[in-house]
Amino acid sequence: MMGPSHALSGAAAWLAGSWALAQFAGVSQSPLEVAVGTAVCAGGALLPDLDMSGKVTRNQGGATVARTFGVASLFVAEVVEKFSLGVYTATKLSRDPRRDNGHRTFTHTLPFCALIGWGTTALATAYGKWAVVGIVFFMAGLALRGLFDEWAERAGWVIVTLASAFIAWFTAANLPGDRGYPLLGLAVAIGCVVHILGDMITKNGVPILWPIPINRRMWRMVGIPNSMAVKVGGKVEVVVLRTAFTIISLLSIAGLFVPGVLERLNLDVWASR
Ligand SMILES: [Zn+2]
Repeated sequence: MMGPSHALSGAAAWLAGSWALAQFAGVSQSPLEVAVGTAVCAGGALLPDLDMSGKVTRNQGGATVARTFGVASLFVAEVVEKFSLGVYTATKLSRDPRRDNGHRTFTHTLPFCALIGWGTTALATAYGKWAVVGIVFFMAGLALRGLFDEWAERAGWVIVTLASAFIAWFTAANLPGDRGYPLLGLAVAIGCVVHILGDMITKNGVPILWPIPINRRMWRMVGIPNSMAVKVGGKVEVVVLRTAFTIISLLSIAGLFVPGVLERLNLDVWASR
């Protein structure tokens, strides 16, 4: 899937999950907490594609997410891609093909999702608010780039970076500093998992079974049959899936906040009598 679909699926997953938690487990979040979680999850749903590097020195190529913060993120993508290729080469078995590019390898595995989620939480726990600000800054940038791709393309990376900085500052100024860190890691991890599931329904699949060796292969690409695969950027993705993700998001937002608003209106009516 393309960036906007990945980002939307992440947002929809977090909103639907938040609604379910509120409905069935009584976990209530403030609107800002929900918004931060949604942005972080949408950003997380783009994170695995930071393994698509371009030509850093010429400032070209790379996945859209790799261009979020200009050459800086392009450089990160280069490092992530080479590192992923290293993990691939180091763990490949005799029947795994040789590769010279790390795209859709290590960052598209469940251990990566768990690791990045744990790392996010560990960072936030160790360094507190400043780590949270940094994480929100980075993830909000990815989310903006993904959700508003045409705007981001026109605005350029400087504006996207400034907008992310504003979101991070606003979050730091308004979110209570003493909680919410585990949820941050969870949002990143769930975003990654949703990304992998999204790639699974396209051609080529993802190495979701890694590191389980089967038939002398560690990196088997798992996905639905090619005849049923969703064409990247095709009608099913752009129209059907994005509409579905949008509807899920809107319904979840309505389910989360409309009852509260109604209650408050009711109270106001009572109070004015
Ligand atoms: Zn991907």
